[in-house]
Amino acid sequence: MIVLVINAGSSSLKYQLLDTQDGRVMAKGLCERIGIAGSRLKHEPEGKEKYVVETPMPTHQTAVQLVLDALVSPEHGVIKSMKEIDAVGHRILNCADYYTQSVLIDDDVKETIRKCFSFAPLHNPANLMGIEACQEIMPDIPMVAAFDTSFHQTMPPQAYMYGLPYRYYEEKHIRRYGAHGTSHHYVSQRAAEFLGKDQEGLRMITLHLGNGSSISAVKDGKCQDTSMGLTPLEGPLMGTRCGSIDPAIVVNIMEQEKLNPQEMDHLMNKESGVLGISGVSSDFRDLEEAAQADNTRAQLALDMFSYQCKKILGSYVFAMGGVDVLVFTAGIGENDCNTRAAICAGLEDLGIKLDPAKNDGLRGKEAVISADDSKVTVVVIPTNEELMIARDTEAIVKSL
Ligand code: ADP
Repeated sequence: MIVLVINAGSSSLKYQLLDTQDGRVMAKGLCERIGIAGSRLKHEPEGKEKYVVETPMPTHQTAVQLVLDALVSPEHGVIKSMKEIDAVGHRILNCADYYTQSVLIDDDVKETIRKCFSFAPLHNPANLMGIEACQEIMPDIPMVAAFDTSFHQTMPPQAYMYGLPYRYYEEKHIRRYGAHGTSHHYVSQRAAEFLGKDQEGLRMITLHLGNGSSISAVKDGKCQDTSMGLTPLEGPLMGTRCGSIDPAIVVNIMEQEKLNPQEMDHLMNKESGVLGISGVSSDFRDLEEAAQADNTRAQLALDMFSYQCKKILGSYVFAMGGVDVLVFTAGIGENDCNTRAAICAGLEDLGIKLDPAKNDGLRGKEAVISADDSKVTVVVIPTNEELMIARDTEAIVKSL
């Protein structure tokens, strides 16, 4: 089946055209600056030259139309007509506790995405715009919504509840939802497959470490706990997000600096994390370079990140009564051997022992990086959220 996977942001739209039979990416690309001056499309067709065009994109609908034009164009295209697209899969950030898996999009689903705007004010409205733009242009093609929260719906209440008055859960739906669910789902499934193990009876901890980072405890293939919370702010400190902090700090800073909620939100989401600590960058490559040049705050940011990840890892080992497999994924998890080594350092007594010869320099490839005598198997699995969405889309559309 040929599936177009769409990830719509407020001013961007990423896409991939996949053949689910072999997971082949036929084309991928990105529309940037939608609704702003200087919008452009970057289109990468398989086996053909990359195509970049700067052209006005006042709306998401114009962007989708440009993507489709590129996909069928004789010079840059990979299909002859739009009719070759069997289905569209949309990535949606948050559906609260409404869906435990991907669903076929109808008016009720769109209404639910709308109801969840307050949980993902930047993403959900943009995701819905992406759906509506595609529906306008491709009204007869089935569309599926894949939610970043649905994999985490198997968490038990003791993992997803916060210690606030119960009415906030009942009336305002305040609870842990997690994020990066499609990625945690994909890498946990793929790691078991790669290792030739059955997910049943397997205790895994998946570390999705990128610009945003989250860690999940996965037992029997189901999520038991995850570090992101009501929003993607909780967990270890991240590129620009502060991660978990004493909640009283929020009130304290707002009072001292007379900040309004939006300003406080900006401070915690955009000015904090390893960027806020180092004053250098949110990118781990820059931090490592600065740390090597004796920048102590860059080193502190790196140390804080691996220490906080290690603490979450430890808490999940206890929550599951042990761990069999650790999975590293996303930008840092897949590429940064130093951070992987720092997170696993000193855990030999707990059965986690990396093999430096396997870990050092390993980038973006599926591989075992633990020593042969390590009780816990440590693997790197590059994430593939688009393939997961395409497969979900295929399964739902085939069952119609
Ligand atoms: P996003 O959350 O935006 O999807 P990614 O998963 O693409 O982020 O991760 C981006 C981050 O990965 C970058 O900010 C950078 O810190 C890190 N990264 C990518 N490549 C490397 C590398 N070779 N070494 C260290 N860090 C890397």
